[in-house]
Amino acid sequence: MEIFKEIEPIRAFLKTKKEQKKSVGLVPTMGALHDGHLSLIRASKAQNDLTVCSIYINPTQFNNPTDLAKYPKTVEKDIAMLQQGGCDVLFLPDNSTMYKKEGGLKLDFGVLDKVLEGEFRPGHFSGVALVVSKFFNIIQPDRAYFGQKDFQQFKVINRLVEELKFNIELPFIPTMREADGLAMSSRNLRLNPEERVKALIFFKSLQLGKEELLKGTSLSVVKNKVKSLFETTSGVRLEYFEIANAENLTVLENVGSSVNCIMLIAGFVGEIRLIDNMFVKDVK
Ligand code: AMP
Repeated sequence: MEIFKEIEPIRAFLKTKKEQKKSVGLVPTMGALHDGHLSLIRASKAQNDLTVCSIYINPTQFNNPTDLAKYPKTVEKDIAMLQQGGCDVLFLPDNSTMYKKEGGLKLDFGVLDKVLEGEFRPGHFSGVALVVSKFFNIIQPDRAYFGQKDFQQFKVINRLVEELKFNIELPFIPTMREADGLAMSSRNLRLNPEERVKALIFFKSLQLGKEELLKGTSLSVVKNKVKSLFETTSGVRLEYFEIANAENLTVLENVGSSVNCIMLIAGFVGEIRLIDNMFVKDVK
């Protein structure tokens, strides 16, 4: 696997590959890799001649300095995992490579970046979209891979590609889960054994929500059930549990049968913030 830390050398390397008509898939990550990330690598390898993974903990998408400072870093292990997974190129830039000036651009996606995660993490999606735009310009991939795990991010990036006319496909990659259902996440590394057990409340809430909604239980009753599940479990705190139209992420007040709905949840186990989501019906 080729490893690049600077922009010009990776550009030169990829230029040669593109002249040879090689297609390029990009998998942007913040490292502390797990099998969820590797599923994106696998999807990219299946669809492209060359797979580029980026590992960069992007400061502009963190609105909580402690979360940024404590974000897990396991670069050596990540490199070994990528090598084993057959990744071709790793882009590993530092802050001075990605951000030359203080006070970068701000991007506004209207309602899409103000609801759900956007409400609790103001500026988060602007930071994500900014850094992803930089990666798109540096790598110029044919396809870029983002997981369902961060469904709102997937929607924001789709909007970014549409608005800025990036000629990039965005395949949809479902969430990988641990055997007990917990969505794989780099932040899971920060959970102690007791918290790891408690973190299952997110998956349980989504399963409960799905079961009840499919039975016809009203949205307000379902929301109250999830709320009380959190209130009766110590050491966890619910930030939101919402059902949204999966096409545009409009938060719904009631669930009509014609709309493709997705449940989205966020909260804390101790001081670690986790998110998850699930379609109400098993369709995209
Ligand atoms: P991150 O390193 O957390 O920024 O994630 C990098 C990419 O991996 C994002 O597109 C995530 O949505 C995706 N991802 C994270 N966790 C999972 C998972 N459990 N299953 C599938 N994709 C994931």
